[in-house]
Amino acid sequence: MAGRDRTIETLIERLNRLPGVGPKTAERLAFHLLRVEQQEALELAVAIQDVRAAVKSCSVCYQLDASDPCSICSDASRERDMMLVVEDPREVARFEEIGFRGVYHVLQGRLSQLEGIKLEDLTIAALLRRVEEGSFREVCLATNPDLEGEGTAQVLAEKLEKSGASLTRLARGLPAGSSIAQVSSSILSDAIEGRRPLS
Ligand SMILES: [Zn+2]
Repeated sequence: MAGRDRTIETLIERLNRLPGVGPKTAERLAFHLLRVEQQEALELAVAIQDVRAAVKSCSVCYQLDASDPCSICSDASRERDMMLVVEDPREVARFEEIGFRGVYHVLQGRLSQLEGIKLEDLTIAALLRRVEEGSFREVCLATNPDLEGEGTAQVLAEKLEKSGASLTRLARGLPAGSSIAQVSSSILSDAIEGRRPLS
């Protein structure tokens, strides 16, 4: 906007790039940060800096953690022959909440024609290598129960068909079109209890 300080415009523009933050909200947040105590605003900046410096993608499962391999991959008490393949690190947190004891593989997204997300944009090559080289009893393709999640699971199932691991999908009890990050813990527990074999 004409006449407004360039640094304010930059902050609004940066906030506007965040998912779910439109220009109006970005403007509101920017002016909020200008109104609160300087210390409080700076704490947000420091928190962003700290988390980016401390947290990395695990080189084995690609979930976010302060250590590499992550605390799950390096935990000897986990069931190492049971793998849950998820789209996003947030979903790891959900399955941890309900007491899943296997290991994970985070795809860092899902295949999407609409968004132009292809095989090589995800951690699929690493997943295939991991399953081929490991001795997994079961690989559960726990992508979201929506069009793109189902499509991604189907592609993965074809690629893992000959791996020797039994391939499963979460139970159909998950409402179609819902997201794993948002369903209740009890629905998620039921979905993992009732996993169904693919093919
Ligand atoms: Zn890991």
